[in-house]
Amino acid sequence: MLAPPRDAITFRVPAGGIFRIASVEGPQVGDLNLWNANDLAERFYTGKTRALHGTHLTTGHRMWSSFPYLRPMATIIKDTLDWYGFDEYGGSVHDVIGTRCDPYTGNLLRGTQYHHCCHSNLTRALARELDIELKEAETHVHDVLNVFMCTGFTRDTGQYFMKASPVRPGDYIEFIAEIDLLGALSACPGGDCSSEHSSDVAACYPLKVEIYETKHGLSGTWRSPPVSGYDGSHGL
Ligand SMILES: [Zn+2]
Repeated sequence: MLAPPRDAITFRVPAGGIFRIASVEGPQVGDLNLWNANDLAERFYTGKTRALHGTHLTTGHRMWSSFPYLRPMATIIKDTLDWYGFDEYGGSVHDVIGTRCDPYTGNLLRGTQYHHCCHSNLTRALARELDIELKEAETHVHDVLNVFMCTGFTRDTGQYFMKASPVRPGDYIEFIAEIDLLGALSACPGGDCSSEHSSDVAACYPLKVEIYETKHGLSGTWRSPPVSGYDGSHGL
């Protein structure tokens, strides 16, 4: 299935299934949200994932879920952009630092009303998938894995930057779903994110999501991970 330019789609992957996000037609960045398909309260936690793995994810890294669950939701098993590493400016791909583009920041800084930021695309897609009101769907949208996006922090002042993504048609990132997943992917209005977000100016392309269901995961030893073993009493 295809996430159209400046829009988002949802998809479901059973635990043990494989899903792949691929570049087609042209360089394009995607914003990915993940939920436990059976409980939307368990969702991707960028901050903890960043603390455990670093600012950018690649093969072997896992996407961790929110408290009180804190378990791997998905593990990256293949990344065709792993050759990029970190460039001379400190930039790398697939970040968990840049949140998602949203209409609120544009309105704050420039007074704009733009409706196809990733935040809005993800909100519409989730509302459609679950047949719920936009306002409710919006409360479930969270910070993303910035698939294919090239970002970093400037070495001298530590400020966030983005630059043109090295992704080209044929590149992909592939995951195993550790639990039953509901995913949403937005094809960012920033395109390859070399210039601006939050407008229709950038060249923008679709992103392909492919799902491969496997019965027992990657090997006979694979098991869906349990939720956190903390007893939840918080000292009381
Ligand atoms: Zn975006």
